Amino acid sequence: MTALVQSVAKWNNVAAGIRPEAVVGFVPTMGALHRGHGALLEEARSRCSVVVASIFVNPIQFDQKSDYDLYPRVLEDDVKFCTARGVDYIFAPPDHEMYPEPQRVFVDVKEVTEHLCGRNRPGHFRGVATVVLKLFQILRPALAFFGEKDYQQLALVRRLVRDLNVPLQVVGVPTVRESDGLAMSSRNRRMNLRERASAPCLYKALLAAQQSIARGERNVVAIKEHAGQLLLGITEITIEYFELVDPDTIRPVDVVAAPVRAALAVWIGNTRLIDNVLCEPPALPIEHHKNHPEFARNQIKTVDHVSSTM
Ligand code: AMP
Repeated sequence: MTALVQSVAKWNNVAAGIRPEAVVGFVPTMGALHRGHGALLEEARSRCSVVVASIFVNPIQFDQKSDYDLYPRVLEDDVKFCTARGVDYIFAPPDHEMYPEPQRVFVDVKEVTEHLCGRNRPGHFRGVATVVLKLFQILRPALAFFGEKDYQQLALVRRLVRDLNVPLQVVGVPTVRESDGLAMSSRNRRMNLRERASAPCLYKALLAAQQSIARGERNVVAIKEHAGQLLLGITEITIEYFELVDPDTIRPVDVVAAPVRAALAVWIGNTRLIDNVLCEPPALPIEHHKNHPEFARNQIKTVDHVSSTM
C-alpha cells in the first residue's frame, strides 16, 4: 500500500530511513490520475528503487481562480491508483505546508516560456517552475519524470535544472493517448459528447504537419495551412495557437531545417486542450546538420569511442 505523507516534517522522517544508495524517482502531479500519469509512474518504478508521486494542485500556477476551484480532487482514488502501480509514497501537502508564508521568491525561466502557452497564461510557468523547484528541494530525488504531453513544461524543467545546477536527471515520457488519438488529460472529462467527438482532430492536425515535414515540406506557412484545414470548419473549435517550435528553446521557426515540435492549443467549448508531436524532416546531406546539437553530440561520441579503443 502506498504511504501518504502530508507534511514536510513527515517526509523528512521518511527520508531519514531511506538507504543512502537508494535511487529516488519523483513524479509530480496535480492528481485525478489517469493512464498518462500511469506511464510516468511505471517508468519511475522500472528505473528507481524508491518512487514518490506528489499530488498538489498548485494555486500559484492558475491564471483563473475558477479553473483552480474546478480542478478535480480525488485523493482516495489516487491512492488506490498509486498502490496498484507499486508507488512507495504520495507526497500530498495542504497549501499551507507548501506556502506557509506568502511566497516572495519565484523562478522565472526566460525564453522557453515566452511563446505557446506562455503568451496566454500570465504567471503560469513562473508558478510551475517555482513549485517544481520547491518539490525538488523537499523530496531530493535523483530522477524526475515529466510527460511530453506538456512539452513546454518539460523544456522549462530541463532548463531550470541546467541553469540552477539542480542535481537530478529529468526524464521525458511519451504522451499516452486514447484509442482515437486524443491525448489523455484530466480536462477531457469536461467535454460534452459532441465536443469529445470532435477532439481527435487535434492529433490529426499534428500528424498532418508531421507527414508534410517528413515528405520534405520546409515552409511553415504551407505546413500550417495544410494541417489547419483539419481544424477549420469544426464549429466547437477555437484555435489559440498552432506553431512549429525549436524543441529546446520553444521559439517558433519559419523554415523547418531540423527536428521541430508541432504544438497546438485549442478551446473546444469551455475546455482548453493542448497537444504536440515531434516532426523530423527527411535526412539531409551531413553538411546541413553541422549546427545541430545532435550532430555535435555524435561527434563527441565518436571521439570518446576512438580514445577508448586506443
Ligand atoms: P498534471 O497532473 O496534469 O500536472 O500532470 C502531471 C504529469 O503527468 C506531467 O508531467 C504531465 O505532462 C504528465 N501527463 C499528463 N497527461 C499525460 C499523458 N496523456 N501522457 C503522458 N504524460 C502525461
